[in-house]
Amino acid sequence: MIFKKHHKVKFLILGAGPSGLSLAHALLSLGHNTSDIVLLEKEMVPGGLCRSEIIDNAPLDIGGGHFLEANNKKALNFLFKFMPEDEWQLFDRISKIQIHGMEIDHPLEANLWQLPRHLQIGYLESIAQAGCVVNKPHPHSFSEWVIWKFGVDIANQYLLPYNRKIFSMDLSQLGTYWLHKLPNVSFKDTLLSCLESRPTGQLSAHGRFFYPKKYGYGEVWRRMGGQLGDMLHLNCPIKTIDPVKRVVNNKWSASYIINTIPWTLWTSYCNMPLEIQKLIYQLKNVSINVDYVPQTLQNKSHWIYNPDESIAHHRLLLRSNFTNSGRGYWTETNSNRSHPTTGQRFTNEFAYPVNTLDKPKAIRGILEWASNHQIIGLGRWGKWEHMNSDVAVSEALDLASKLSGL
Ligand SMILES: Cc1cc2nc3c(=O)[nH]c(=O)nc-3n(C[C@H](O)[C@H](O)[C@H](O)COP(=O)(O)OP(=O)(O)OC[C@H]3O[C@@H](n4cnc5c(N)ncnc54)[C@H](O)[C@@H]3O)c2cc1C
Repeated sequence: MIFKKHHKVKFLILGAGPSGLSLAHALLSLGHNTSDIVLLEKEMVPGGLCRSEIIDNAPLDIGGGHFLEANNKKALNFLFKFMPEDEWQLFDRISKIQIHGMEIDHPLEANLWQLPRHLQIGYLESIAQAGCVVNKPHPHSFSEWVIWKFGVDIANQYLLPYNRKIFSMDLSQLGTYWLHKLPNVSFKDTLLSCLESRPTGQLSAHGRFFYPKKYGYGEVWRRMGGQLGDMLHLNCPIKTIDPVKRVVNNKWSASYIINTIPWTLWTSYCNMPLEIQKLIYQLKNVSINVDYVPQTLQNKSHWIYNPDESIAHHRLLLRSNFTNSGRGYWTETNSNRSHPTTGQRFTNEFAYPVNTLDKPKAIRGILEWASNHQIIGLGRWGKWEHMNSDVAVSEALDLASKLSGL
């Protein structure tokens, strides 16, 4: 009998998106050796959803519009080591919502004052009756929660159609556990904002953001990948996993496997207990097409949300307003809603993890099974959470400390 010798490593990282790349560098900075770490990545370029390509002589973010949150100091300090701060431009976000035949600032609930008076009155009436304003119990499905939280008008005119466009599914199947941080809409503050013609509430995420001056968002991740040398194996798709022996592609054996690739792929790579397979089948994801259009729009926004269900895309990004050299714009559209195109299109099968009602229980069970085998879920797909790249970085830094016994 011939025994195959496996290449042994301490940390085998599946996927070289922001999570995998950050974890590898964080482990190195905590003193682990280069021989302890291997990353396997199916694409030719590292960066995952945050990759960029040069299209029509300028960068285009092929995973959709990507901007670096300016408030996460921990992630910024880490990323600026690979791409110094002076290579980034800091922007005050300009994002609009196309609604009622006009464009108003995002978020809608803070900027109703920009609408004509007769529309403001309707919105205010429905906020006055919103469940959270009149102390009704918190509903459990997303579609009911949106009405409870913002009132019927914001729900029906904007949030429900917009989310139907992104997710292309029945919104009553989504939970609300991922929205607990959103403050309740206040009738008093909204009324004051309309009377005084000023926004209400705090700036939402990405109120200020960084974007590279000369490159696309993918550049920082490309540099991180480049500095990993032989640890990073590109064009190396995972095909088989033995979760008990922790052997991947029949070649790499590891003390720990850190998984940043979608769990839903695992069912075709490995044998696992039926009950875990069933939990994995409960995980859902949304696929997004990114379509480039060379025409430059006369509009100062960085991006524009569109809840109109007769239009395919849900968001439009004006790259001429945040890249130095770029003309044109790109759109993001749920792949189920996209029309065929002869233009430049990038399809991201795994774009959004979906926060279904049963997801928390399913992912808990999967992570528990994995952790019994020294397999750890990390990042957007390892945790099946809507996390931005700065959060992916922060979580990777925390995991590196934990794995180093700190
Ligand atoms: C439309 C959109 C807009 C976004 N906007 C922002 C934003 O403005 N700012 C922000 O910070 N974040 C944004 N995000 C979130 C950001 O993309 C994620 O936080 C980040 O990509 C998570 O990194 P990750 O490494 O966990 O996952 P990913 O980036 O998905 O990386 C996973 C990696 O695993 C690899 N992989 C998958 N299968 C295999 C396999 N079989 N074998 C080997 N490798 C495999 C993939 O190729 C990929 O490189 C946005 C996301 C989307 C979809």
